[in-house]
Amino acid sequence: MEHMTKALLALIEKSPSPFHAAANLAGELEAAGYVRLREEELWTLARGGRYFVERNGSSLLAFRAPQGEWRGFLLTAAHSDSPSFKLKPQGELTGPENYLRLNTEPYGGMLMSTWLDRPLSVAGRAVVRTERGIESRLVDVDRDLLVIPSVAIHMNREANRGHAWDPKTDLTPLLGLGTEKGVLRRLIAEAAAISEEDLLGGDLFLYLRQPGTVLGAKRELVAGPRLDDLQCAFACFHGFLEAEEGGGMPVFCLFDNEEVGSATRQGADGTFLQEVLGRICAALGRDCPAELAASVMVSADNAHAVHPNHPEYADGGHRPRLNGGVVVKHSASQRYTTDAVSGALFREICRRAGVPTQEFANRSDLPGGSTLGNISNTHVSLTTVDVGLAQLAMHSAWETAGAEDTGYLLRAAGAFYGSVLRPDGQGGWEIR
Ligand code: ZN
Repeated sequence: MEHMTKALLALIEKSPSPFHAAANLAGELEAAGYVRLREEELWTLARGGRYFVERNGSSLLAFRAPQGEWRGFLLTAAHSDSPSFKLKPQGELTGPENYLRLNTEPYGGMLMSTWLDRPLSVAGRAVVRTERGIESRLVDVDRDLLVIPSVAIHMNREANRGHAWDPKTDLTPLLGLGTEKGVLRRLIAEAAAISEEDLLGGDLFLYLRQPGTVLGAKRELVAGPRLDDLQCAFACFHGFLEAEEGGGMPVFCLFDNEEVGSATRQGADGTFLQEVLGRICAALGRDCPAELAASVMVSADNAHAVHPNHPEYADGGHRPRLNGGVVVKHSASQRYTTDAVSGALFREICRRAGVPTQEFANRSDLPGGSTLGNISNTHVSLTTVDVGLAQLAMHSAWETAGAEDTGYLLRAAGAFYGSVLRPDGQGGWEIR
């Protein structure tokens, strides 16, 4: 398996929840010499310094103060969360008969049927009582634990004729046999290495246990859970880490809660990015609006490839292919931020870096999805392009993408961060 795909699948496997994804990237940043800043402290930033800051343990911003002259920020943004089922606080259901089940609710807009008949487990954040107060801990019941069983075809002869999935009945996971309550609590406490009395709560999600893999006749496809959006997060993050110094301050953004609309403290619709960029400007004596006017954001979230069995869902002229390069997304209603200028700017950077690009627009009668770029722009307004990597089965528990595309976005992000981009004040940009 190619090295990069292996590294992507390793990140996905050890990131069963957005808390784990952020913690894993934070760990890589610390290993690379980045200093962890805390939001509640005053910041002193040095020329050439490398920094990152987390919010809620599930969103993260990393940046480098350039050694040389710089103007504006060069940002990439991806999201840490994926559709799943969140456990309710009183998470156990006893019965019918001797079954013990879990009470969950959908997190995001998933393809529900894909969660059935697969080994699942539970991961996220636990809050524990300590001598000092309370503490957040990553938790992962790291074994095959749950299943959501289908109804047999013999009991529902209509099962293959389309089904309206009801999350409150059809998607209730089975934890085991026995009507004794408190089993889940015991498992979570065990996984968090604490005593049960000290477990005060958790933000816990179901995840698919099956690790991702490479498939296809030429091993050209990568398949697994949470490719949306950890594939883009991985590519942008490594493009950020590996980039040479360009003419702007490089910033990498990982936001939680994209799948539920981003309107949270740590989401792209919160104040996180705005405040961090404002504080960077203040610490370095810059005028923030002037820097933002010279800034560019690449919002990276996976895109729809033409479906092999249902090509009719793709627009006539905008039909991204797997391994066809980075997808630039367009939407007249501006659910994607790309306009002629930001699209051309990004494509030109890719062309110079030898990275192929392709274009996506929804079929005109399909509304499509939304993403980080336009939401973030309502708080931090700057030139933004929405891009992504082509994939199949978006929001399935098991998604499929092109194995080569990860490298294309990584190179595009690296080239973007290494560029000198200067607006000419009249809708044009100098690109060096
Ligand atoms: Zn996404």
